[in-house]
Amino acid sequence: MQRRRNQTTPTLNCPFAAMSDLPKLPAPTLARLAKLGIRCRLDLVLHLPLRYEDETHLYPIADAMGGMTVQVEGIVEHCEVVYRPRKQLLARIQDGSGELWARFLNFYPSQQKQLAEGRRVRLYGEVRHGYYGPEMVHPRVRNVEGGADLPEALTPVYPTVAGLTQASLRKLITQALAPPAPSDTLPPQVREVLGLMAFGDSVQLLHHPPTDITPASLIERGHPAWQRIKFDELLAQQLSMRLAYRQRRDRHAPVLAGNGQLVAALLAALPFGLTAAQQRVLAEIRTDLQSAHPMQRLLQGDVGSGKTIVAALAALVAIESGFQAALMAPTEILAEQHYLKFKQWLTPLGLEVVWLSSSLKTKAKAAALTAVAEGRADIAVGTHALFQNAVSFERLGLAIVDEQHRFGVHQRLALRNKGGSPHQLMMSATPIPRSLAMTYYADLDVSAIDELPPGRTPVATRLVRDERRDEVIERVRQACLKGRQAYWVCPLIEESETLELQTAVDTHLALSEDLQGLQVGLIHGRLKPDEKAGVMAAFAGNQLQVLVATTVIEVGVDVPNASLMVIEHAERMGLAQLHQLRGRVGRGAAESECILLFNAPLSEQAKARLKVIFETTDGFEIARQDLLLRGPGEFLGARQSGLPMLRFADLEADSELLELARELAPQLISDYPQAASDHLNRWMAGRDELLKV
Ligand code: ADP
Ligand code: MG
Repeated sequence: MQRRRNQTTPTLNCPFAAMSDLPKLPAPTLARLAKLGIRCRLDLVLHLPLRYEDETHLYPIADAMGGMTVQVEGIVEHCEVVYRPRKQLLARIQDGSGELWARFLNFYPSQQKQLAEGRRVRLYGEVRHGYYGPEMVHPRVRNVEGGADLPEALTPVYPTVAGLTQASLRKLITQALAPPAPSDTLPPQVREVLGLMAFGDSVQLLHHPPTDITPASLIERGHPAWQRIKFDELLAQQLSMRLAYRQRRDRHAPVLAGNGQLVAALLAALPFGLTAAQQRVLAEIRTDLQSAHPMQRLLQGDVGSGKTIVAALAALVAIESGFQAALMAPTEILAEQHYLKFKQWLTPLGLEVVWLSSSLKTKAKAAALTAVAEGRADIAVGTHALFQNAVSFERLGLAIVDEQHRFGVHQRLALRNKGGSPHQLMMSATPIPRSLAMTYYADLDVSAIDELPPGRTPVATRLVRDERRDEVIERVRQACLKGRQAYWVCPLIEESETLELQTAVDTHLALSEDLQGLQVGLIHGRLKPDEKAGVMAAFAGNQLQVLVATTVIEVGVDVPNASLMVIEHAERMGLAQLHQLRGRVGRGAAESECILLFNAPLSEQAKARLKVIFETTDGFEIARQDLLLRGPGEFLGARQSGLPMLRFADLEADSELLELARELAPQLISDYPQAASDHLNRWMAGRDELLKV
């Protein structure tokens, strides 16, 4: 399969003839086109209309009802600039059937001329009921001769940028569509079986729809022409995923068969037995580790489902097989907590657990690095520091990434590249809706822990207005007096980390005042690592009853005795974040509660988010809602997915097309490799370096 790499000259990335075969364009036009992502003829062909305007016929003013978007033609009977109270231009148009007002709140002198009394105009716009009768606000105005021809097709309206008019875009696109038409990347047999329209016909129709078509089918993108474009886009994504998957299958990784002794020893020492779900995913992981190809498995499990112990057991399989393991976590607090837990679990088995963080003192770091490089360390636990060049493992067999959604694609690749092709286990508590799993994560195998350990009580969620904060403080006091512990999470202040810190410090002071007799701790991102560790240890040991925190405690923190979570300004937080925070409680047997303090008025989005978090505790459902509310781009974050986002298809709405594309991709690769290659080149050229490999 032909893969294009390292091509930086834009025109080289253009598969279907460069701009050069269009009439030469001036540099400013090229720059504007580039802003729209248009660098070649095919890009123009795929610059599809947002909507259409129906200028194919004239509407009698008398028949135009409020809410309709129509074209009318008439004579300007009256035109004046009025101040009521703002300056505006008002013109009255008469077409023999009735009168209509055109109103402009901002206007140029040229528009005033266009609407001079006695001139014949065509207006296009939405009819509303104004003070004086039917009116159009900011209609499009065109001066015409009586009886001038009407266009025969719907007029496409394109996304554009300043300085590039609709008319010039239309002209360029029409030129780009001139023969020879872009070839069809799909073999006719395939198209026929799937009932897909030809590519050339599809783009032609979308740019120049025939008059008998209902614009709604084009706007709602249900028309076969749209289906074809969306299918092609989804197919390209599936093809690249399949190829990435295959490439991985071609690489070699150590066979980690293990003899089961260390695994058995740890299981015997645990105070609990694994849940059925944990056993199942562990078996899946072990099967992968025994294969000579690198595992790339995503372990999904809601917050508190017990992923850490599964990771430890997987690490033991690697160690039993004579290899090292690495565990990486996104924050210092979480990494440290893992380090302590792993030490507690693995040291009694005679294993060496090493801590690697960027904040280590030079000497300690050097010692850790040597232990890793010489193979004395059985497992290294740490933060991003694990990626750094200085870190080299003697024989890394398994790399584990916790809370993988927090890492960028590049960081994950960096760890994988540490010494050969180790097996990779990624863990995430942010469940991935099926549609995303099929696209953005299609090159991963997925295991899911779908049950929580027994004895957990569900967390009750309450929404409380900030005005009732005193009652909440009282509730915290009561809970702590009964021996429970509480988190108090300070608001996220995106604009200013300093302000966020200040708020946490202030809150800590105020709560210490209000909660006399209780020990109130404070943790935030600016503390030194050993200070953070000290605070966490004090909270874990119940020397602190209340922990005031910034969102640094969002991921991974595990203190089972804490059963009350208060989140301030919950309306500012994202769904995944709220779910993660709430997951910090409900880990012990005590009944847990999560209080979401909010400040009114709420935006529609915030209202929707709080409703979701209030109504459900199911991580999958929350993720699905999150995806619906934000769309995949936001949901994944381009940085994290490393993938170009879909332009045309919608994962949820087009799930049937997605299924089809997913089925076709492997067939196309094996039966029509040339078609697969052409298709990828058309859609992905110049982008595939962004794909996960
Ligand atoms: P997460 O999946 O969110 O990372 P953890 O691995 O931190 O969850 O586990 C949450 C808590 O549940 C920990 O205190 C852990 O020791 C405990 N735990 C894990 N598995 C079980 C089990 N099978 N039975 C009882 N408790 C368990
Ligand atoms: Mg965890």
